Amino acid sequence: MKKETKQIKSNKTKVIFVTGGVISGIGKGIAAASLGNILKSRGFKIFMQKLDCYLNIDPGVLSPYEHGEVFVTEDGGETDLDLGHYERFIDENLLKESNYTTGKIYKRIFENERKGKYEGKTVQLVPHFTNEIIKVIDSAIKKEKPDFHIVEIGGTVGDIESNPFLKAISDYSFQNTNSTFFIHVTFVPWLNASREFKTKPTQNSLSTLASNGIRPNMIFLRSQNQISDTIINKIANNTYIPKDNIVALPDFDSVYKIPLYLESQNVCEKILKHFSLKGKKSNLVEWEKFVNKIEAPNKTEINIAMVGKYVELEDAYKSIKEALLISSVHKNAHLNLKWISSVEIDEKNVNLKLRDIDGVVVLPGFGKRGFEGKVISVNYTRENKIPTLGICFGMQAMTINQARLKGIKNATSSEISDKGTFILDIIEGKDKENIGGTLRLGLGSIDLVEGSLIHKIYGQNKIYERSRHRYEVNQKYISKLKDKEFQFSGYHGDEQLVEVCELTNHPFYIGVQYHPEFTARPLKPSKLFSAFIESILKIKRQQ
Ligand code: GLN
Repeated sequence: MKKETKQIKSNKTKVIFVTGGVISGIGKGIAAASLGNILKSRGFKIFMQKLDCYLNIDPGVLSPYEHGEVFVTEDGGETDLDLGHYERFIDENLLKESNYTTGKIYKRIFENERKGKYEGKTVQLVPHFTNEIIKVIDSAIKKEKPDFHIVEIGGTVGDIESNPFLKAISDYSFQNTNSTFFIHVTFVPWLNASREFKTKPTQNSLSTLASNGIRPNMIFLRSQNQISDTIINKIANNTYIPKDNIVALPDFDSVYKIPLYLESQNVCEKILKHFSLKGKKSNLVEWEKFVNKIEAPNKTEINIAMVGKYVELEDAYKSIKEALLISSVHKNAHLNLKWISSVEIDEKNVNLKLRDIDGVVVLPGFGKRGFEGKVISVNYTRENKIPTLGICFGMQAMTINQARLKGIKNATSSEISDKGTFILDIIEGKDKENIGGTLRLGLGSIDLVEGSLIHKIYGQNKIYERSRHRYEVNQKYISKLKDKEFQFSGYHGDEQLVEVCELTNHPFYIGVQYHPEFTARPLKPSKLFSAFIESILKIKRQQ
């Protein structure tokens, strides 16, 4: 008998688990986010979660070299950079609960254990830790009630750390029959010497997954180039996964093409068929327009310098890079980024370092190393009228530079020196001992000063953006620093914490204490990044 297909709104959330095989860094997060994108385009409500297998409570205190960017959610969660992909691809604001680590789950268990909640039982990885994982998945579902909840497991199948997570999601599936779907994203290497793709690593990874009780419903085969049918058949024959559900996923020059590609491979239809569900017709028209704009001809080339401390690892500034790219695409500009270490910038070489640059982004950061290079850079771009956007530490560098120009020669931040005039300081009552989770975090309101450039850019008196910093402009110096050219044009809350500084006699020189990059989305570019790109294009048009 033909199974009856239901229109959407089955009352039970369907959970899609995404695991990774063979090696890390193959774009599992992008694949999960792309899946969210195409399911949402069919009218489904989507929520996403990333479960990371390391012991830190969150990535907040990890070095960017270890982990890449810390993505900040609206509710102040310091989370994995994959959440940035999720938000950009599914255009939803996620929550702290969207990212759990082993450490964060252990913390809950230890707190419960101290409260005697385990009633004298021995607390163990199985079932206590695994049950806690199931609880965090369930509680996100209960809160958000999505049609599809996509859960990505960090790391690679086979890592010791990921075993309890695999056990937990296998248990989850056993407890929730007919409402789970497993996708394994694996890597198929190409051997140049023998000119062939090798499937063995994928087969091994699938058997490890099977030993954890999971037989995926679908696999994505990541590879540098398009994989042939012969390879897909070979994997199908060796793994008993239907050929139809083995999807080749080659590299693309832009990650934003991946949702369109997965749609072309009927991935949604296959998932819906599995659940006997029907969605609306997919609507990717706007997304497709955006992707077409990426490739549009006759773009104006723009060269932007990214000045920061962790420039060897571009992932450390992932959302800023994407925000710039998104705005450039909308402005029909071809973006060339030049990564410059602020550690290597001094008074003598700054002109060479910033030669042939159309605009400068002075990047966020923490600690002393490389800070003076940022101050020297913002002084140079100020004098030479080069469009400059200072983000967080970058804005603080602009403010300290202004103080020095106003004669406060020893102007500094208490973050980087214990001597000097603290133009930036920790406000009274803030925790100085515990560095994890105690910054000013998450969405806040910012009142923009009428008549300022930033007010003109946003076209609003009040805006909402996300923060992640500890030090604030010292209120004592605000009036001393302001003058006809240098203004503070945005403030937060009753305490009037400085959020924006700008120059009036400059094509574009704006510093923001907040992080505008976290709210930039492909179809909703950040007004600030777009205005920055526009200021560069305007100069180019006049040349
Ligand atoms: N280190 C500075 C502070 O904590 C700036 C932080 C940042 O750039 N995210 O205030």
